[in-house]
Amino acid sequence: MPDIRDRTRQLALLNAKRFNGQANPKALLGSLLAEFPDYRKDIQELQEIINSITQEINSMTLDEQEKIIKNEHITDRPKKEKRTGLPELRNAIKGKVVMRIEPSPSGPLHIGHAFPLILNSEYCRMYDGKMILRISDTNADNIYTSAYKMIEEDARWLTDDKIDSVIIQSDRMELYYKTMKTLIEKKHAYVCTCRPEDFKKLIDTKTACPCRNQNPEENLKRWQMMFKEYKEGEAVVRVKTDIKHKNPAVRDWPAARINNGSHPRTKHRYRVWPLMNFAVAVDDHDLGLTHIIKGKDHITNTERQMYMYDYLNWTKPEFKHIGRINFKGFEVSTSKTRKAIDDKVYDGWDDVRIPFIRALRRRGFQPKAIQKIVIETGPSKTDKTVEITDFFKTVEKFNKDIIDPISRRLFFTQDPTEITIKDCRKTVEIENHPDSRDLGTRKITVNETICIAGKDYNNLKGQPVRLRKLTEGILKKTFEIKDLKDQRPQVIQWVPKSSPKATILTPDGNKMTGLAEKEAETLKEGDIIQFERIGFCRLDKKSPLVFCFAHR
Ligand SMILES: [Zn+2]
Repeated sequence: MPDIRDRTRQLALLNAKRFNGQANPKALLGSLLAEFPDYRKDIQELQEIINSITQEINSMTLDEQEKIIKNEHITDRPKKEKRTGLPELRNAIKGKVVMRIEPSPSGPLHIGHAFPLILNSEYCRMYDGKMILRISDTNADNIYTSAYKMIEEDARWLTDDKIDSVIIQSDRMELYYKTMKTLIEKKHAYVCTCRPEDFKKLIDTKTACPCRNQNPEENLKRWQMMFKEYKEGEAVVRVKTDIKHKNPAVRDWPAARINNGSHPRTKHRYRVWPLMNFAVAVDDHDLGLTHIIKGKDHITNTERQMYMYDYLNWTKPEFKHIGRINFKGFEVSTSKTRKAIDDKVYDGWDDVRIPFIRALRRRGFQPKAIQKIVIETGPSKTDKTVEITDFFKTVEKFNKDIIDPISRRLFFTQDPTEITIKDCRKTVEIENHPDSRDLGTRKITVNETICIAGKDYNNLKGQPVRLRKLTEGILKKTFEIKDLKDQRPQVIQWVPKSSPKATILTPDGNKMTGLAEKEAETLKEGDIIQFERIGFCRLDKKSPLVFCFAHR
């Protein structure tokens, strides 16, 4: 926010200029109140500021006033201070903040995960806090084993390694059991053996089921039976809530169940599994979370979890519920993508067509570009719909700002057509970047036959063209060298006939095939370059050369 005195002075100057050097204090009040609404409570004070400043301004000559306006570029428009970085977190103390993201290992991370992940990690960076990646794997039915490793890799890459610890919930079963036992002993939880449909009928009418009033001894006995005697589905632990809670989904919510399935990590070691809300609350407390950012769709879950904080006398973290981001125009469903990969529709999680983090990485997107769009979007309370085209337009712009100054330029000729330039045997030296000498030059040796893109040949044959850095003339199969003088012909790229074959994978699922200049063979996998008049590409594989297209 600009200072109120500075702004008053600016407005007084403008007003004075308009009225022959004499500002009218009354004319400033409205605009100032609009810009500084807090002063509505203290109009008297504002009035005094205005009076003293207009007096000062009115004592100047019109010339003096105009000079200041000009020198300081003063305008009517209030200077909108653009937020840089994230808005402050409530009650955050530098060095004490602990935050987390909690993906389930059903697959690697996609662009939807990037938002909560980066918001949390950036806040931890902002407050020198600790960022926890907690993998939520207490539901054995929905685990993709390689996801554990992939999620951690994706998260580290996206946050520039701002992941301070990785916690896996299936490692913490004893802690869940211990907490559950305490809740049961304190009569805050019970083992319910009602059939789900019977329980639902009762709870919908705000009626306790018969299990609710059992004594703790009976509950503890039943709790032990969950580990051996009860069959899957026969018993669940419920956390007691207000049985008349306005939201039926909160009433005596389930906290643990039996699942006989084999867990990818613990196999059959455990059969009693905590359910999401229970495990989340235990971990958030145990790991000392100070701030939790989650989607508004989790408000009911937070309400459920608050019962545990109250029963166990835990300190509550700050909760911030933010709006959902709905991605329109692309599929961010992990299960659907997984099926498509299994069905060989996609090559893998890094297939250039899908919005998964490893696919964006493979195309040459930089974490900083994705971080920037998340930070600019911020932790908004309202739901947002993001169109694929708008999303990529923005990320591509941010990405280009990062890679453009450091990417070497090279030539690529798609669907090449041979051109002969008689007696043209020479070596040309070409700068690797139009603005950066630091990126050096390269030499290309030509021996009469070159190749240009088939499309360039078809579009430009018979017309004057400039073969970049080589020669100029009329484009024909046998090139007609000609001094084009002041003409501004189309400049086209070319490569010697003997250049290596290369493929560029594009995000629409197509391939561009052609010849890249030999210099491309000196690149390392992962290097990003710009093929002139094509766009930025990342070298995916050497021999044969395969590039992934990033953007123009
Ligand atoms: Zn019951």
